[in-house]
Amino acid sequence: MFFSFTTRQHLFDTLDTEVYDLLIIGGGITGVGIALDAASRGLKTVLVEKNDFAYGTSSRSTKLIHGGLRYLKQFEFALVKEVGSERAIVHNIAPHLVLAEKMLLPLSEGRGLGVFLTSFGLKLYDWLAGVKLADQRRMLTRKKTLRTEPLLRKEGIKGGGLYAEYRTDDARLTIELAKTAHAHGAQLLSYVRVTDFVYESEKVVGARVEDVLLNKKKVVRAKAIVNATGPWVDELREIDKSKKGKTLHLTKGVHIVVPHRKFPISQAIYFDVPDGRMIFAIPRGKTTYIGTTDTDYTEAIDDVGVTAADAQYLLDAVKETFPSIQLSISDIESSWAGLRPLIHEEGKSASELSRKDEIFESPSGLFSIAGGKLTGYRKMAERVVTMVSKKHFNDRKLKPCFTHKIKVAGGEFRNAKDVRKYILTVRKRVETWRLDEYFVKYLVHTYGKQSDFILEEVEKRLKNGVEIEAALVGAELTFGVENEMVLTPLDFIHRRTSMLLFDISRLHRVKKIILNEFKKQFQWTDQHVEEESRKMAEEISRVNQFK
Ligand code: FAD
Repeated sequence: MFFSFTTRQHLFDTLDTEVYDLLIIGGGITGVGIALDAASRGLKTVLVEKNDFAYGTSSRSTKLIHGGLRYLKQFEFALVKEVGSERAIVHNIAPHLVLAEKMLLPLSEGRGLGVFLTSFGLKLYDWLAGVKLADQRRMLTRKKTLRTEPLLRKEGIKGGGLYAEYRTDDARLTIELAKTAHAHGAQLLSYVRVTDFVYESEKVVGARVEDVLLNKKKVVRAKAIVNATGPWVDELREIDKSKKGKTLHLTKGVHIVVPHRKFPISQAIYFDVPDGRMIFAIPRGKTTYIGTTDTDYTEAIDDVGVTAADAQYLLDAVKETFPSIQLSISDIESSWAGLRPLIHEEGKSASELSRKDEIFESPSGLFSIAGGKLTGYRKMAERVVTMVSKKHFNDRKLKPCFTHKIKVAGGEFRNAKDVRKYILTVRKRVETWRLDEYFVKYLVHTYGKQSDFILEEVEKRLKNGVEIEAALVGAELTFGVENEMVLTPLDFIHRRTSMLLFDISRLHRVKKIILNEFKKQFQWTDQHVEEESRKMAEEISRVNQFK
């Protein structure tokens, strides 16, 4: 089913012709998760996102589907149990995109909880999350720890723990869920912003929206409205005049990306830093990424960036734990910064704030959801839809939530073994193209079963004499434009392919081809191409130049 600019235009033009059951504001993981839950249970659902899907925090996380080991220290057992158990479900509905990743937790003299407490903590973590016996934590001796990761500083290492987590691509998980919600009948529009609400007898009954690409305006009417705008939640509550009581506390988290050959860790590591915080270093394709910081943020929400001080903090942390690694600011190929939409608690610092989600209902009837984790999106969606239904649709027999059984678009595999088999099939199919192994895995872990459509398109282009690099990127872009609501080059290079973050050298090689493809597919003028080329250049320098 097409999910493209053309379908979007028709949809926007008909937005004011009916009253929806549910209007969701925000196309991050929380919003699209609610859209899938609501539409699959039978509600007539519409979602609007002011930028691209996953433009906010949902493309700027650590990209882990994890239970949050460190929340045990804060005694958040219920949270760890819920998100920990969700990991296996999210892996099961998207096995190509949510990959098992063992995490090494080195234990050093005078840092962290010590061997006994860590061993107990990891056991508790596995138990709360119901981890299968074969995947449960293993405690390592000092010798084994250093053999597992020889780059670690040797002095002070007492041992380590090896435990199960999952790695994903947050933006792709969001877009695949958006496509899945669309396939279940939800209507989702990107680049459509809510500017105001519409009230009747002081109750909210709709929203004024504007198409920020075409500068058109409409009113959307709905029986229930959910504000799922992450860091912008309070902005919308302000428009609704209901920003009272609990408010958001935004904290910034930064990640940097360096070439894997410069920081060649053999596996994902979660290590202590001298200020008592913990940091991840995660190998990913040709790169290793490191994060995160956690600092209070009070500046513009739409312009969050990485400063030289943020980048240096992470480089110093690496230097302290991996003394043979010589990294400097100039080694950073890419980076990103995101905002955690946490709920303020008096007297608590950024790292101490709870990651629990909460739903507020305003006097006008606007529901707002804040807090939470990428990992817990499905349960949050279930809670929101159940709450909304109790209030507005008590007379209807809605289906119970069954999103744990709905495979995301491209994820139609039985399990991880099935994904590995499919990688072999793809490898065979592209044998004569002389691609490196990285690309085959990239394709399958990015698009899952949808790789078949992309390969078909590549084959067509190769037959027409197009060279392989142009054929590949052209085929990905065509797929994105027709099926993934790619509307701008930034949607494509950042949130659909992650090229901007993890394959910047490919991006430099293909950026002109990308702009030419856009020109062809959207009939852009030369002036428009120039404008987009400038935006792309700005974004590329923004991710690796720091003030
Ligand atoms: P967002 O993704 O920010 O979505 C809100 C959307 O609302 C935005 O796209 C925005 O454009 C849109 N919007 C705003 N105003 C309007 C308007 N007026 N009209 C229309 N649309 C509007 N969680 C994990 O589980 N694992 C992790 O590894 C992890 N790491 C993290 C690391 C960092 C540094 C951070 C910051 C968070 C991390 N999290 C992690 C938490 C997780 O990323 C967030 O909880 C989640 O992405 C929040 O999603 P959201 O949909 O609520 O918000």
